[in-house]
Amino acid sequence: MGGSGGFRVPKYRYPAQFEGGERELLSRIEELLLRGGYVLGQEVAEFEGRLAGYLGAAHTVGVNSGTDALILALDALGIGPGDEVVTVANSFHATAQAIARRGATPVYVDCRDDDFLMDLDQLPAAVTERTRAVILVHMFGKAADVPRARRLAHDAGVTLIEDCAQAIGARSHGVRVGTASAAGCWSFAPSKNLAAAGDAGAISVQDGELAERLRLLRHFGQPHQNRHEILGYNSRLDTLQALVLLHKLDRLDAWNARRAEAAATYRERLAGLPLRFQHPGEEGEHVYHLFQVRTRSEQERDGLLEHLIASGIDAVVRYPVPLPHQPALASPAAQRHPCPVAQELSRQTLCLPIRPDLDAREIGQVCDAVTGYFTSMAGGGRSR
Ligand SMILES: *Cc1c(COP(=O)(O)O)cnc(C)c1O
Repeated sequence: MGGSGGFRVPKYRYPAQFEGGERELLSRIEELLLRGGYVLGQEVAEFEGRLAGYLGAAHTVGVNSGTDALILALDALGIGPGDEVVTVANSFHATAQAIARRGATPVYVDCRDDDFLMDLDQLPAAVTERTRAVILVHMFGKAADVPRARRLAHDAGVTLIEDCAQAIGARSHGVRVGTASAAGCWSFAPSKNLAAAGDAGAISVQDGELAERLRLLRHFGQPHQNRHEILGYNSRLDTLQALVLLHKLDRLDAWNARRAEAAATYRERLAGLPLRFQHPGEEGEHVYHLFQVRTRSEQERDGLLEHLIASGIDAVVRYPVPLPHQPALASPAAQRHPCPVAQELSRQTLCLPIRPDLDAREIGQVCDAVTGYFTSMAGGGRSR
């Protein structure tokens, strides 16, 4: 159903991700289909090299998904049963599923009220003698404070891992995220800022031995055929996906800049309303994977969401249930530290559509619909 403005504002628009270059990409895909080399073909190594160059990382290892990137990183760092891994309560579920899938226990720290990122002040208290690692998550595209997290992890004697799935290109203190910790874990799922045509992921590391171990792990633990040195996984980046990612990587910075422009316009045009936004930090810290707006109550959030959807706008709640409250991810350790801010954000926030190709007409329609909701509320009436 369209709103009174008449058209829909979708979350994703895939044709715009190729900017007319799809013919060239299709001919490379056709060539691959006919040539073979689908598994660990040369384009995988080419993409890994280009990604490492883009990030400023010593090595990157392509894997099947962002979730696998986290699982393999934890495995390669020797983290498993009996260990605790600290992460943030408002992340996407995959961060915690990866920890639990390794047989380790996720322990949650609350997020901050202003930038919605892990409250690093609370990190030391979450570390016990069982803690082996911290997974810092750059939520919604905003870089967390990596140098500070690194110092805190170092002081606590634990390893720092970054979940960079939502933040490719973002910088912390001028340095790209995912390059100043033991491992940066990347997702190129279709919704992400750099998107494959299906599942894909990578791990960025600085240590050559760790990179080698990850290459073994993703490929059945086999250095060569019929020899299995360690227990591995089948988790390789498809050559076909590497082709798609190679095609898009050069455009990423321009796309992230356009996301930031759209976000700036939203902030400006919605400034007079009773809404709050995730603190953007310094320039370059936020790549706006998602644009969060925060209402004053759950009722108001739900009302706004309903109004936006009825107006043809693909608004969505990310994420309505904090991780400590997910049945699969709850445990006594999960409940150890209260996470009231994560709880409140899960009830008060929603995401407006954001993508590089969001145009002025679409932004206008979204802003009019958001404004319309609050105007009708102020008038005492229901929105519809
Ligand atoms: C998308 C995402 C993942 C998982 O990536 P997949 O490629 O979907 O497995 C992990 N963590 C965060 C924060 C994500 O947004």
